[in-house]
Amino acid sequence: MIKKLFMFALVGGMFSLTACAAGGSSTESTPTESTSENTTAAQSTAETTTPVNTEAQEVTTTQFTYTTEEWKAPEEYGKVIALTFDDGPNTTTTNEVLDVLEEFDVKASFFVIGTNISEETVPVMQRAVSQGCEINSHSMTHDYMNSMTDEEILADTEQVNQLIKDAIGTEPKFFRPPYIATSGKMFRLIEMPFIAGYGCDDWDPAVDVDTRVQKTLEQSRDGAIILLHDAKGNSQTVEALRQIIPELQAQGYEFVTVSELFYAKGIQYVPGLKKTFSAVPQ
Ligand SMILES: [Zn+2]
Repeated sequence: MIKKLFMFALVGGMFSLTACAAGGSSTESTPTESTSENTTAAQSTAETTTPVNTEAQEVTTTQFTYTTEEWKAPEEYGKVIALTFDDGPNTTTTNEVLDVLEEFDVKASFFVIGTNISEETVPVMQRAVSQGCEINSHSMTHDYMNSMTDEEILADTEQVNQLIKDAIGTEPKFFRPPYIATSGKMFRLIEMPFIAGYGCDDWDPAVDVDTRVQKTLEQSRDGAIILLHDAKGNSQTVEALRQIIPELQAQGYEFVTVSELFYAKGIQYVPGLKKTFSAVPQ
């Protein structure tokens, strides 16, 4: 099999800026319409996206390599969306989320916390991979990394990436900063694209199932990354998923991993943009 390497570039695009640096928010807030000004501004600047080489079997970016053998050609995708889950893995809620994904035959991405990776939870991560899901990093300790030193950021990242590699055989491809709190140091030192996403505050038990469903559906659009949580005990999100997935399927969405979302849209993250993606450009 001929394996071609190719590069494609993105400058600017429809990404959302997120909370950053000094004293980041105490909750995991996510970008909403309030960032649309930034988005529009970013779009109006140079956006140069070159077409994807559909013959390629392997995609190499400066950040990561992934195979596309199981993926169709980018132009064959319709509306795509990526469900993502933070704060696992655990043996309860993560498995319940996987049960729902399995039932509806959809893929998602899990952004795991290193300290949650254990003998008990490694099989859960492996189950996720066997269902076509992707495992990404949500840091080692879930601390505010924007106040860490260079050494601390590097140590944290190295540790969690190694644990993930030990568990599933590959390092994570994407990084979600705890609390979506970022800093220049983090962008300089963490060599993975930063992902935020559109959330429904589902880390808050006071947000009921209907609200989670409604807010997620309102924010869903082609190329979006949906931010949810599979933290232990978050059964309201499991319940919400049972409504969110069939509704979005009825609207014609295909659920893909974050890697596949970028691939489907022909986008390569370019380091140094100091952006956190909540969606990929159309
Ligand atoms: Zn988190």
